[in-house]
Amino acid sequence: MVLRVAVALTAELLRPFQEKPAQSAVITDFDGTLAPIVDNPELSDALPGTSELLDRLAAIYGCVAVVSGRPLSFLRKRLACGPGVKLRGLYGMESSREGDATEDTEAEQWRDAVSAVAARGDAEAPPGVSVERKGLTVTIHYRGAPDMAPWVERWSADQADSTGLLRHPGRMSWELVPPVPIDKGTTVLDLAHGCRAACFIGDDRGDLAAFQALDELARRGTYVLKVVVESEEVPAELLLEADVTVPGPEGAFEMLTKLAEVA
Ligand SMILES: [Mg+2]
Repeated sequence: MVLRVAVALTAELLRPFQEKPAQSAVITDFDGTLAPIVDNPELSDALPGTSELLDRLAAIYGCVAVVSGRPLSFLRKRLACGPGVKLRGLYGMESSREGDATEDTEAEQWRDAVSAVAARGDAEAPPGVSVERKGLTVTIHYRGAPDMAPWVERWSADQADSTGLLRHPGRMSWELVPPVPIDKGTTVLDLAHGCRAACFIGDDRGDLAAFQALDELARRGTYVLKVVVESEEVPAELLLEADVTVPGPEGAFEMLTKLAEVA
């Protein structure tokens, strides 16, 4: 078996973006990437200066986007960016176009099923397990009660079986999402369409789809950079796909700062 080993970020690896900025896409995840992981997901926030940095990048690069599993409304509260920065919530099920939020109509049909699962979660979850309502998706967190991991896994599997929702693992959480063909991969393909260089910065399993999208773009001749934000929790399967790693959200911020330094 050949293991791919990610390397540290060098100026050389960023040069293709800086040489043709108008034809380059800079795309990033939010939690664990722009924002440090915190015990209460409601208190998550981007590092200071992130919004300004993204605005600077948007003035330089053809596409600058944040693609997250969080709702668009959440991203808008945490990132006070101008319209040049594209925000995609719920993996791309929610997008901001000219200031308005638009939702995928197929996913929208699952809203009632998702809220029923959230209500059952509130009623049945043991202490320390929390239910995060995201509108078209719902996440069950056990960071507050790590011993409850098996309970959350079993419960979320039952909910997926009984509703037809799909279930995805997250960082100390399980998420239930509508069974529609939208993920970070389809969203990245859409955002980076026609670009000559594209990168994605991520830290979790949901970002694997974005990396697979970059692999697809690479096969079409695009220069790509798959960046993993290192932490003790980073899944091995994501690290195996990385071209480079950066040390924590601070490392991601530093990479974006370097990208903003275009002569
Ligand atoms: Mg993340």
